[in-house]
Amino acid sequence: MRRWNGWGDDTVVYPLPEAARPFLEERLGPARPPRDATFERIVAAVPPSRLAPHPLVSQAPEVRARHARGQSLPDWIAMRSGCLAAFPDGVAFPTTRGEVRALIAYARETGARLIPYGGGTSVAGHVNPLPGEAPVLTASLARLNGLTHFDAVSHLATFGAGITGPDLEAELRARGFTLGHFPQSFELSTLGGWIATRSSGQQSLGYGRIERMFVGGRLESPAGTLELAAFPASAAGPDLREIVLGSEGRLGILTEATVRVSALPERERFHAVFFPDLTHGTAAARELVQSGVPLSMLRLSTAVETETALILAGHQRLIAALERVLALGGAGAGKCMLLLGFTGRKAPLRAARADALDITRRHGGVRLGGAAVGRQWQKSRFRTPYLRNTLWETGYAVDTLETATRWSNIPTLLGALEAALRPALDDIGERVHVFTHLSHFYAVGASLYTTYAFRIADDPGETLRRWQALKTAASRAIVAHGGTITHHHGVGTDHAPYLAAEKGELGLAVLRDVCARFDPQGIMNPGKLLPSR
Ligand SMILES: Cc1cc2nc3c(=O)[nH]c(=O)nc-3n(C[C@H](O)[C@H](O)[C@H](O)COP(=O)(O)OP(=O)(O)OC[C@H]3O[C@@H](n4cnc5c(N)ncnc54)[C@H](O)[C@@H]3O)c2cc1C
Repeated sequence: MRRWNGWGDDTVVYPLPEAARPFLEERLGPARPPRDATFERIVAAVPPSRLAPHPLVSQAPEVRARHARGQSLPDWIAMRSGCLAAFPDGVAFPTTRGEVRALIAYARETGARLIPYGGGTSVAGHVNPLPGEAPVLTASLARLNGLTHFDAVSHLATFGAGITGPDLEAELRARGFTLGHFPQSFELSTLGGWIATRSSGQQSLGYGRIERMFVGGRLESPAGTLELAAFPASAAGPDLREIVLGSEGRLGILTEATVRVSALPERERFHAVFFPDLTHGTAAARELVQSGVPLSMLRLSTAVETETALILAGHQRLIAALERVLALGGAGAGKCMLLLGFTGRKAPLRAARADALDITRRHGGVRLGGAAVGRQWQKSRFRTPYLRNTLWETGYAVDTLETATRWSNIPTLLGALEAALRPALDDIGERVHVFTHLSHFYAVGASLYTTYAFRIADDPGETLRRWQALKTAASRAIVAHGGTITHHHGVGTDHAPYLAAEKGELGLAVLRDVCARFDPQGIMNPGKLLPSR
């Protein structure tokens, strides 16, 4: 069963590797496991529903509690401590477009706020009901989750928007295809959520972001139905798919989506190469991308992330042996790991691999042990989020944030971002463990993905205050140093205050007008995406 106050399936446990605890104690100090609230306590705190009964809407407190929050760190703090400011007044699980339309009509008539809910894996506050006078209805797309049309000739598949990553890939795999969209939240996130947040999968270098896959679909809005026909390309004015992408539930509910799919690859391999430092690794990654070597993934870790990843991987003796060999090859202390993904047909892959390894070698890359590290990464790529549960239960909070910038600005932004986070809790004598990787590479730049860990306080309010101090420091550094406030997590509530700096006042006004056209009463997921005025 899905864990109600953390990540994933509650039968899956990722134990802390032996070397991890002393490492964290050395970096952050010893921690005490927090006292988490029980599910029964949360359920008991759910207030009576303010919604009039409706046959499609469940008012059961257990269901409302399970849909009260997403997966951001503030969401975790709220769920784990039992301090939730608001719950949805009801949750509906529509099974047809007609039912979605009926729910929109019901929300309009009753003045309820309507939150589309995919997998609830948002890490930016997208699915949280906000406190207020109006009742809140959450519409889970979990039962609109089938394959409705498959066109093998055109490589197009149409799904109900609530389909999760594993179910979608299982349908396609059975037909010899893949979507190739693998965010780390793959296990629980949904096609509709990916589109509504402009998600990016781990293999975006090969398959593209969700924008490149989303060909058409259907959006039910308070103002009516928006049909997006699946053309290969069109010059018929501005592309309306672009306003649905990233709309974060503000325009309506995407009930189905047509996506471009690819034939299953004949072969897929991941390989690690280690560089003496980040400068060499960055130069290699840039050349790999700009020279067009056909890779499906690149991920370059800073020295601190490389060290942390190797410690958290366990297998202490093997890692120690690997590190000795790497040091002999020139990648000693300060080494940075680059993961490369090779996906596709066998013959071109052989050429791509030779090309890529040649480029990495010219930049000082050492590939000893890289195949085994690559296999290990592949095996645990969707398991890593489970470690967040274990770390929380040990007493450490972990959060991530992401941005993107042009190549020439990467060193500046990376330096500013980490320098903003590291001392952000100095005033209370707490340390922060910060590390970053570059991923989602483009010819003109890359995304920076930063993880930060700190100790959980005894008082949940204090833990939240620590998070706020860190998040604010990082967001300001991003805005001040030429990064986008989000490369793939979306805006939600947490990034909304920084949107004006990126879009400008006219840009924001246009977005507000678009929302008002689809949703004149302002019932669709208010408070998300656009900053409150
Ligand atoms: C452990 C972890 C790892 C993650 N890794 C990645 C990653 O690698 N790449 C990445 O891009 N993101 C990642 N995320 C963030 C998150 O998974 C994405 O934002 C994802 O796209 C959200 O999908 P969802 O189905 O869970 O949507 P939800 O969280 O349910 O909703 C997100 C937003 O989309 C709207 N929405 C959802 N479905 C619909 C619909 N059918 N119609 C209209 N609006 C809708 C909601 O109203 C909300 O505003 C990660 C999150 C976690 C917790």
